[in-house]
Amino acid sequence: MRIAIIGAGMTGVSAASALAEAGAEVIVFDKGRGPGGRMSSKRLQADDATGGYLQLDMGAQYFTARHPWFLRQVLQWQQQGLVQRWEFAPHVWQHGLLLPSDDAAIRYVGTPAMHQPLRAALGSLQQYYSCRVTELSYSQSSFSSQQSGEWTISTADGASHAGFDALILTCPPEQCRQLLASQPLAEQIPANLLLPSWAVALELAEPVKHQAVGIFGKSGALSWCARNNTKPGRSGIAEHWVLHLNAQTSLQLLEATPEAVAAVAEQAFSRIVGQQLQVTSALCHRWLYASYNTELTPPGVLSDPAQRLMVAGDWSLGGRVENAWLAGVMVASQLLPEQIKAPDLSATSADFMLDR
Ligand SMILES: Cc1cc2nc3c(=O)[nH]c(=O)nc-3n(C[C@H](O)[C@H](O)[C@H](O)COP(=O)(O)OP(=O)(O)OC[C@H]3O[C@@H](n4cnc5c(N)ncnc54)[C@H](O)[C@@H]3O)c2cc1C
Repeated sequence: MRIAIIGAGMTGVSAASALAEAGAEVIVFDKGRGPGGRMSSKRLQADDATGGYLQLDMGAQYFTARHPWFLRQVLQWQQQGLVQRWEFAPHVWQHGLLLPSDDAAIRYVGTPAMHQPLRAALGSLQQYYSCRVTELSYSQSSFSSQQSGEWTISTADGASHAGFDALILTCPPEQCRQLLASQPLAEQIPANLLLPSWAVALELAEPVKHQAVGIFGKSGALSWCARNNTKPGRSGIAEHWVLHLNAQTSLQLLEATPEAVAAVAEQAFSRIVGQQLQVTSALCHRWLYASYNTELTPPGVLSDPAQRLMVAGDWSLGGRVENAWLAGVMVASQLLPEQIKAPDLSATSADFMLDR
């Protein structure tokens, strides 16, 4: 079976590797410059004499593993040196107080960049980057009495890729809906599943005096603050904090300039850590579709078996990297049920496994 996958984020990569392992021919398309999607990082020149580069995570900050299958996958990546645990005791900012949090989750990061396990999982599969898919079309085969047809993908550079037996879309929901256009499946994708977030990275002349490394914001403009240079594989660089504005503030500032957004983030962060900051540079990234809107019920993986069309993403199962990986395995198992087992979503990791 020849399968096109649109999106090289965690969902697309997870589906691609499961299908390729089962013997399918998989071709991946992404509008970005490489794999990662919302697990992408900005590359910075290191300060030390190595002349190397370090990664500033602007999207996903870390991931957790609660499902035994995902945990098994993460431990395998860990053995391969593609991910490491990021160990720190988080803080929480609420009602004007910065206090230790009781959150004891085990957190992992890709090393040296968040997308590292994705790049490795795709290996030598056929991949097209800087390749924005603009149109999808399905034509029914007239040569066969069986129900079969093929998908053709058109891209912004004017190219067209034909001859796919199946198509998997893993873009954020709004983008999936646009691409599906008149397909009935488009109507099954709920609106506003993913909320926006501005990410701001501040480079500081002096380290923040408070010992906090990761802060969950429960009030004020910021939902998250991370001392990026404490993550494995990201030291050797001046103090950098990555700050995420919460969904409400990000919506209010959706069309604001990066300078205005950076000023809001700096002011809020300065209040949290209780010190004036000497910011030497600021970098902003606007994520139109960032994190899951927890007020909505996840729609699950969507499919049109007659056309072998599948639509999935982290949003299918409620957001987060782990759910993206599980959604990828689910679409793969729906396409090739004989070869690929579907995960039991009610399973959670046994405590003894978490201790390893
Ligand atoms: C600011 C932020 C913070 C986050 N923090 C965390 C965290 O700490 N922990 C956690 O678990 N999760 C976090 N997440 C969520 C996590 O990043 C996602 O759950 C996960 O990466 C989603 O993977 P995905 O493959 O479903 O989607 P995506 O990563 O969005 O992948 C979709 C891909 O589709 C591509 N695409 C879209 N349209 C087209 C097109 N027309 N043509 C070709 N390609 C297209 C995109 O370029 C993208 O690469 C965070 C996300 C953001 C943005």
